[in-house]
Amino acid sequence: MARKIKMTTPLVEMDGDEMTRVIWKLIKDMLLEPYIELKTEYYDLGLPKRDETEDKITVDAANAIKKYGVGVKCATITPNAERVKEYNLKQMWKSPNATIRAILDGTVFRAPIIVNCIKPSVRTWRKPITIARHAYGDVYKAVEHAVEEPAKVELVITSKDGESEQRLTVHEFDGPGIIMGMHNLDKSIESFARACFNYALDQKQDLWFATKDTISKKYDHRFKDIFQEIFENEYKDKFREKGISYFYTLIDDAVARVIRSEGGFIWACKNYDGDVMSDMIATAFGSLAMMTSVLVSPEGYYEYEAAHGTVQRHYYRYLKGEETSTNSVATIFAWTGALRKRGEIDRIKDLIEFADKLEASTLRTIEEGVMTKDLALLAEVENKKVVNTEQFLEEIRKRLEEVM
Ligand code: NAP
Ligand code: MG
Repeated sequence: MARKIKMTTPLVEMDGDEMTRVIWKLIKDMLLEPYIELKTEYYDLGLPKRDETEDKITVDAANAIKKYGVGVKCATITPNAERVKEYNLKQMWKSPNATIRAILDGTVFRAPIIVNCIKPSVRTWRKPITIARHAYGDVYKAVEHAVEEPAKVELVITSKDGESEQRLTVHEFDGPGIIMGMHNLDKSIESFARACFNYALDQKQDLWFATKDTISKKYDHRFKDIFQEIFENEYKDKFREKGISYFYTLIDDAVARVIRSEGGFIWACKNYDGDVMSDMIATAFGSLAMMTSVLVSPEGYYEYEAAHGTVQRHYYRYLKGEETSTNSVATIFAWTGALRKRGEIDRIKDLIEFADKLEASTLRTIEEGVMTKDLALLAEVENKKVVNTEQFLEEIRKRLEEVM
């Protein structure tokens, strides 16, 4: 066998929980370390370690991504009341993804991994559709109130020095009803816009953005204006050079166009649209286990992960010694995404080629009919062979071996 590929700069490696932690180690042992002299800075974001360090480890990992530029993360438990009991936690720690996203001020891009034997529900889709979700504000940071009796509801804007006050009537209620006040920040929208434009350049794909600016003439219109202004001032020429375009339309028109399209673009969504549309896109392409996720900061830091969680139910079976058939594709693609990016930044051609080969071997395995249980239900291929967690990785390794 050829010599192992060398790396110059470390990747920030963030380990995680449950079944994905099991898979994490298998991927490294079977598919990466035999071929690469892996250079990583390791952060254990598994729940016990987060609890032990009072979650400092998560903050350290995020800062390491700022230092080295590229990270790869395993799925992690976001604790709820049950988990606090199960792991005897000091407190209900915040979601590591939210912590890392806040520190990097990043935007999450989710893209399906496409294999030719799993047909999307939408017949025209041939290429992936990547969703970028703005992760700040709107209904997710809103103030709500139930109006119980006749009342006049106003928005009051008081200047910081208290000198001026503006009042806008929301509604004069004759009877019970509901109200909500929500906000967003120019700064957050600007970061979101830059992350989207940068990622479009990175992927050499068109960027679509949509809001309801005809109805929401101030709120949604601000999103439209900020995107347009940043595009004109900072990205227009770069987009022309790469031969890609920025396309703005109304959200309902965008939905109709997405369904008629053949895919192959990035769709930037406001917070709520992204929440809803990403589940629609994931389901229509096949399975959450075939969805990758990358966090991109406006400064150009990248963090790769699988879009799914820790696959808890499989883990409990694994602990009982029962056989599992857990799909490792999205976690493999998190690694290949990070290795490819590391290779691009450090100009290591072998590392980029290795990422390509590992992805191709993974897809070939499925296209030749060898797959985990979740895909077997969806795939249209002859001589389907359903394998367990380890056998699947072994089948990928065999095919990778042929091209190394
Ligand atoms: P999940 O881990 O995504 O799993 C939900 C179900 O989807 C599984 O039970 C399984 O269905 C199927 N599935 C997901 N990924 C699969 C894979 N790779 N291979 C095969 N089947 C797969 O979501 P969850 O059960 O709601 O959450 C479990 C934990 O993950 C929670 O503690 C949550 O906080 C955490 N989580 C973390 C992240 C992250 O770190 N980014 C994201 C989401 C959730 P069957 O059981 O029917 O086979
Ligand atoms: Mg959702």
